[in-house]
Amino acid sequence: MSLTSRSCIALDPVPVNKYAFFVIAAFPGSFDPPTLGHINIIQRASAIFDEICVVIAENHLKKYFFNAEERFELMSSLVKPWKNVSVALCRGLVVDFMKEKGISLLLRGIREGDFSYEFELSMMNKQLNPDIETVFLTTEPKYSFIRSSTIKEIGSFGGDISLMVSPEVTRAIKEKLKNIQ
Ligand code: ADP
Repeated sequence: MSLTSRSCIALDPVPVNKYAFFVIAAFPGSFDPPTLGHINIIQRASAIFDEICVVIAENHLKKYFFNAEERFELMSSLVKPWKNVSVALCRGLVVDFMKEKGISLLLRGIREGDFSYEFELSMMNKQLNPDIETVFLTTEPKYSFIRSSTIKEIGSFGGDISLMVSPEVTRAIKEKLKNIQ
């Protein structure tokens, strides 16, 4: 018996065509605010998967700059160019949201340094729901330094964030800062 056929016997019998027909991926995150890095992941994923559901996660233990509705509105206007991308709000566990919607692929983007955290998160989600498969898309070099937290910081000091977020997000950040100062 060849090594290949022996290792095949050891594999669990997962149906190979489980995802072959219509593949929907959920892309969850805080998106506080949505950045060009997020949009790049969405754009590339929309060419790979049949449908992408961007999930705006609301965690009551986290403090946000934009509330859930504002993040939803911003993201909805940014994904308009892609007909197979929708946006949803989730105030509970993302894995529960996905189960309810019948989605089993969870998409995350990774920059340098994100892997350990993302790996742990995917293990946690697998524990919570073994049917969930996490897939990662690596960032593109020009977006690799973009971080929502950095953008808020730079924006609050009046720095130039135009290469990191869309013009509408820049406007929304300025507006928000005016209101809280
Ligand atoms: P979180 O759920 O950790 O709050 P974010 O809203 O910051 O996540 O981001 C959502 C997803 O997008 C995460 O998988 C994150 O790693 C990824 N991401 C964030 N910024 C970028 C970027 N510049 N390039 C690629 N992926 C990114």
